[in-house]
Amino acid sequence: MIRKRNIKVVATLGPASSDADTIRALYEAGADVFRLNMSHGVHDEIAERHRIIRALEVEMGRPIAILADLQGPKLRCGVFADGKHSLPSGAAFRFDLDPTPGDATRVCLPHKEIFEALEPGARLLVNDGKLSMRVESCGADFAQCVTENAGDISDRKGVNVPDVVLPLAALSEKDRKDLEFVCDLGVDWVALSFVQRPEDVIEARALIGERAAIMVKIEKPSAVKVFDEILECADGIMVARGDLGVEMPIHAVPPIQKRLIRGCRKAAKPVIVATQMLESMIESPVPTRAEVSDVATAIYEGADAIMLSAESAAGQYPAEAVAMMNAVAEEVEGDETYRAIIEASRHVERKTMADAIVHAARELAETADVRAICCYTHSGTTAALVSRERPAVPIIALTPFENTARRLSLSWGMTCAHTGTVERFKMAVVNAARAAREMGLAGIDDQIVVTAGVPFNVSGTTNILRVAPCDESKIFSAEPA
Ligand code: PGA
Ligand code: MN
Repeated sequence: MIRKRNIKVVATLGPASSDADTIRALYEAGADVFRLNMSHGVHDEIAERHRIIRALEVEMGRPIAILADLQGPKLRCGVFADGKHSLPSGAAFRFDLDPTPGDATRVCLPHKEIFEALEPGARLLVNDGKLSMRVESCGADFAQCVTENAGDISDRKGVNVPDVVLPLAALSEKDRKDLEFVCDLGVDWVALSFVQRPEDVIEARALIGERAAIMVKIEKPSAVKVFDEILECADGIMVARGDLGVEMPIHAVPPIQKRLIRGCRKAAKPVIVATQMLESMIESPVPTRAEVSDVATAIYEGADAIMLSAESAAGQYPAEAVAMMNAVAEEVEGDETYRAIIEASRHVERKTMADAIVHAARELAETADVRAICCYTHSGTTAALVSRERPAVPIIALTPFENTARRLSLSWGMTCAHTGTVERFKMAVVNAARAAREMGLAGIDDQIVVTAGVPFNVSGTTNILRVAPCDESKIFSAEPA
């Protein structure tokens, strides 16, 4: 099943999408990547969803990426003796370390480190920012606050502390257990939540090693501040607008989204735009105009992927939401203005042989009558560079490594195929032509562009560019030995 669009769709799985039929329906509607959210779901359920995706991958004969999203150091308050409390604005409220159930004046915030980092004047945002408080005084085991607006607080509600860099480990005990679990299962991407500094990514990398690529979720003001440094250590970025819109003024999010997308394109690393993209489709078969426009904006901005959260995980219309993203993507990408914007935002700095070759490949594809750029890739780096060029023809990434093919499935414009190893360039061209034809992207009389590195089977050697016919008999007669 070859998509007729460049941007990828990430669908989060959850209670509304955990059986094989629904997951297949999501794939058929257009999901390219499945997200397993470790904040919800017990290990048995996660393992079962993982098994279903891998079985679907075999059935479809196409690599599918799995993204495991770790909960990260998300702060939550303790429980209350009598459920929910509605606090008026100006009310005094205290967080402390006492595990006794809370009441209308206090509750436990079981994170000792937080109290040491807090300062008078810092804000605490409860329940996705619906209740905002400011610290009046604090000590080693308490923070005495005053509410700034009226709002509810109840059992285990999330607490955001946007104004301070928290001395929290990037990965909690739970995260470490979840990480080992998903790496044992075999996932392609691991997403890190609430990253604050580049060191958080480096720490996670030491644990993950080569087992998965790392997607850093940008959802803290501190991460936005050091975004360039974080991007350098990351393999991909998620614009996590849910928490970002709580931790920062909500109107600061769109410019940040644009900046992050541009930064990622420049770095040739994939970027996902996430959260509330089709929020109303949790309950409605039709989205709002504003949501459709938001999805379209992310596509015009040149993001690699757009994501569904509760829409596909817990909503009533999971497949319809995927189909809607697919439809918007086909529409936008068919628009002339889209091409013009993508061309205008191309990054031109070229430092390496691989940069020059992928640039030439795109130019050739635009000048000559060429149907696809076929790219032999080991680690996926060359394919990512082709994707950065945002060519007007499909990109076919050919790799002997299954995990490279799966990881690349998240990147803009990429159709991936896991091939056997090749020893000689002639065979590489033959394989590429076959792949393009089998995918229905080229016919026997068409031409393709092939990039590869000789000697084969060595990373980082991209040094060949060739325009080749898709007809094997012509390849053999035209190809020098
Ligand atoms: P979450 O992350 O859905 O895990 O909270 C995404 C976001 O905050 O936007
Ligand atoms: Mn989040």
